[in-house]
Amino acid sequence: MTTQTSHYLSNTVRNLKPSGIRRFFDLAAGMEGVISLGVGEPDFVTPWSIREASILSIEQGITSYTGNAGLLELRKEISTYLSKSFHVDYRPESEIIVTVGGSQALDLALRAIVNPGDEVIIVEPTFVSYGPLVSLAGGVPIPVHTKSENEFKLQPEEIEKVVSNRTKAIIICSPNNPTGTMLSKQELVEIGKIVEKYNLLVISDEIYAELSYEGAYTSFSSLPGMFERTILVSGFSKGFAMTGWRLGYSAAPKEISEAMLKVHQYTMMCASTMAQYGAIEALKNGIPEVEQMRKSYRQRRNYFVSSLQEIGLQCHIPGGAFYAFPSISSTGLSSEEFAGKLLMEEKVAVVPGNVFGESGEGYIRCSYASSLEQLQEAIKRMGRFIANIKKES
Ligand code: PMP
Repeated sequence: MTTQTSHYLSNTVRNLKPSGIRRFFDLAAGMEGVISLGVGEPDFVTPWSIREASILSIEQGITSYTGNAGLLELRKEISTYLSKSFHVDYRPESEIIVTVGGSQALDLALRAIVNPGDEVIIVEPTFVSYGPLVSLAGGVPIPVHTKSENEFKLQPEEIEKVVSNRTKAIIICSPNNPTGTMLSKQELVEIGKIVEKYNLLVISDEIYAELSYEGAYTSFSSLPGMFERTILVSGFSKGFAMTGWRLGYSAAPKEISEAMLKVHQYTMMCASTMAQYGAIEALKNGIPEVEQMRKSYRQRRNYFVSSLQEIGLQCHIPGGAFYAFPSISSTGLSSEEFAGKLLMEEKVAVVPGNVFGESGEGYIRCSYASSLEQLQEAIKRMGRFIANIKKES
């Protein structure tokens, strides 16, 4: 009897679309001389002292599992760091879990709270993982749209348009991937009012908190009344340049953390032990290096965004992360066409905005976590590309 292997796949997985970002990476990977503004990761190597601390732990033969929630010493460092930097207080013993990247913290959060059919609001343009993670947890992702005229800031009344009696939670991300938009304290307060009105939970993805360029960063759970309603998700990938270490964390009220830990202990046991030793050093002594990196991204943001505007691509000034999200509507091309042609004709890889949801159409995501020389060359090529389109039309 012949078997069709697709027969074994679950309907949920069958219905998931592969990430649109990967497709462009794969295309670009087969070409020479490509400048990639596609990847969402720092161009810095993890600071040496962090690498050294991890190496030392291996040399000392510390190679076994840690406790499920992670090393207590690391959780204490995370707790102190969150308190000092963002004015939020979480108990290391019961409210913090060390996870395999912020990605796993998101997964745990959703699996701990979603009943089949529960709705979770996601803000478009959206980080590509939110929708699929909601679906994998048995929930239904409900998009809410943001617009460039509001610098892609979530408008509280838009939440009210999509909220229903099935809505369990909303995922917010500030500074944002893909738009770079950072919400002010007052804007978060306004969102908090709606959250309270409809009794929602907030999954606050604060993975880019260290990379904010305009004023003080506000952590959602620091707002009055929001501690009990927030699952804070963060990690070391972006701010500390540690993407490959796969280390993140969640911070949430005890009962929610305990529920997440149940899922974590059966699915992951614990995060990588040697990575956890690196992270302790990152929080103890790595902050000045994070600050150096932040300054460098800020400088590149200023150059890149003003250069995009000079070559004719409208772009709001992103308050954080390392993404610019310019409009390409003046070219008359769709975001897929723009990104495809730009790659083929000028060998610059960007991500078409439509992979971040419907409201990303008409935009492209450019990561400026590249050297200034690379950015200058990318701008030269993009400028030529746009000038050619204008000539043709
Ligand atoms: N959230 C957002 C918004 C991201 O951009 C990313 C990484 N691209 C993550 C979470 C996950 O990061 P990690 O798993 O590496 O911590």
